[in-house]
Amino acid sequence: MAEVPEVEILVRDMNEQLPGRAIKEVRVTLPEVVRFPEPAQFTTLLAGQRFTHIVRRAKHMLCTLENNLLLEMHCMLHGTLRLYPTHVAPTVETLISYQLEDGAELHFLDRLGYARASAGPMLEVQQKLRLNDLGPEALDPHFSPELLLKVLHGRRGKLKSTLLNQRILAGLGNRDADESFWHARINPLRIAGSLSSYEGEQLCAAILYVLREGINLRGTMTDLSGKRGAARQRRCVYGQGGQPCPRCKTPIIRTMLGQQITFFCPSCQPETINKNAAHEMS
Ligand SMILES: [Zn+2]
Repeated sequence: MAEVPEVEILVRDMNEQLPGRAIKEVRVTLPEVVRFPEPAQFTTLLAGQRFTHIVRRAKHMLCTLENNLLLEMHCMLHGTLRLYPTHVAPTVETLISYQLEDGAELHFLDRLGYARASAGPMLEVQQKLRLNDLGPEALDPHFSPELLLKVLHGRRGKLKSTLLNQRILAGLGNRDADESFWHARINPLRIAGSLSSYEGEQLCAAILYVLREGINLRGTMTDLSGKRGAARQRRCVYGQGGQPCPRCKTPIIRTMLGQQITFFCPSCQPETINKNAAHEMS
């Protein structure tokens, strides 16, 4: 699953490999993958352009090109990128192939076909994708318990739904949210604005732990060279419905929160403020 650790790995790998290299030709295999401009314009616009640097914002991969152009790609649930040293024939997973001037090829892949790309002048892409409306990044050095509590303050929605809104906090996907709540011993169905300052500290630390562990293990998917990361697909609670909680052995609950499948331990993560956790602190 492509969540922030997996996307961050791809961005870091691209930053090592792509700056200074130019795109010779672009082939779009699945036209609906290109959000804008029209696929024919997309390929014309990018031909001959040289990569300068690549950054991540939420799950958007933002490739800055010379001439103030931006190529944006989003892996959605299962998309990825692969850089091949020479030409390879596209497969059924290939959505877009970028042939580089030096003969290498960058393939944008997704077996489900949900991944998306867009390109254009930097400001135009930022505006159309509303990138400036995204919330603070969980992996930004300024992320803190105070900032987390500030973005949650007064919000009456469920905690998990609120934190999955990338305009409130950028960086948490479904899997990493469930893992973070379990580590912090906080129920994902709580009201977002109800966290105590202690719980804010616990949740902030848990989010950073989960994201950094995912990145250190290079995610659950393949990197730019095709090497699979070592992070576990199934973790402490995510995908573990009915299995014993690794901490207290209570069966993990699997439920739906809106559109999101959600896993938590009803014992470690009670629906009321966890007095045990508060007691442990003292
Ligand atoms: Zn438990």
